[in-house]
Amino acid sequence: MNALITGGAGFVGSYLAEELLRRGFYVMVIDNLSTGSFHNVKHLQDTRNFSLTVGSVTDEEVMEELIEKSDVIFHLAATVGVKQILEKPIESISNNIRGTEVVLELAHQKGNKKLILASSSEVYGKSCKVPYKEDDDRVLGPTTAMRWCYSESKAIDEFLALAYFRDKGLPTVIVRLFNTVGPRQKGRYGMVIPRFVKQALLNQPITVYGDGQQKRCFAYVEDVVRGIIALSDHPHAPGEIFNLGSTGSISILDLATMTKRVAGSDSDTVFIPYHEIYGETFEDVRNRVPDLTKVKKWINFKPETSLEEVLGRVANYYRQNPDLLNSEDRN
Ligand code: UDP
Repeated sequence: MNALITGGAGFVGSYLAEELLRRGFYVMVIDNLSTGSFHNVKHLQDTRNFSLTVGSVTDEEVMEELIEKSDVIFHLAATVGVKQILEKPIESISNNIRGTEVVLELAHQKGNKKLILASSSEVYGKSCKVPYKEDDDRVLGPTTAMRWCYSESKAIDEFLALAYFRDKGLPTVIVRLFNTVGPRQKGRYGMVIPRFVKQALLNQPITVYGDGQQKRCFAYVEDVVRGIIALSDHPHAPGEIFNLGSTGSISILDLATMTKRVAGSDSDTVFIPYHEIYGETFEDVRNRVPDLTKVKKWINFKPETSLEEVLGRVANYYRQNPDLLNSEDRN
């Protein structure tokens, strides 16, 4: 089987590549290395069944060739991180929408190839409902709060994918990833765990935004990747949407405390108002919890790695790569 991973040099994509190789796939990766890193897949370069194309998913000529050779496509290429979205909204919207249009249309033209679309829990917006179920209403802020452009662009991707499934028979599975974490994730784009672990190891203040009472459920990337592959294998999953993540909820303040404990750190905790980081119009999601009933029922999905274990692995990753600790994340 030939698998194509768009965004395969990114954080989630590189773990997916490793797991598919382990399972005997020939893995083709396309990545423009904007937020992904060559470093994430360097160790796969010598593997016989692996190829990396540095390029954009919006390059139809390149994509046509890759999709032609694929049996299954994992479309992960997208802009990542709240920080990045606020700093580069035009690029974020265009990457998400144009990239997905190209991938869906070519997957259809090349014989309706199986396609897994990585969507996001951002799609739910700031709804106060706990937990979020796949067919819940979405609750978004105004268009002046630029954060929501990511939610909208991912929702357009989902609409498009569902329309291709319904009108053209393209077998597309939509996976809404919740906060997915582990080594290789970069703090540069705002993600909390790499930032907190780095700050803890360097004994720098842990930067909690807002009052720290906002909650998230963090899932370990290898658990998530197993779920993605199982869904790609399920014969009835096309046309369906699945939440994927963990339901273990923690406040960001408690996360700061846990990170310090795991890293053996004396760091202080500082509270920083959102507007100082993300501007006046920023709105955060207060409590984001996935309802995993559907994915449990369909593929018996259960996250196995505890948050403490994940924090330990991230800390070890930085200890083993001290150059990453002391500088901006490399590409
Ligand atoms: N956050 C924080 N300090 C940081 C980075 C992030 O308190 O240095 C908060 C952020 O405001 C959010 C939570 O941690 O409430 C999770 O942030 P992340 O960007 O990892 O994910 P998302 O906001 O997409 O859930």
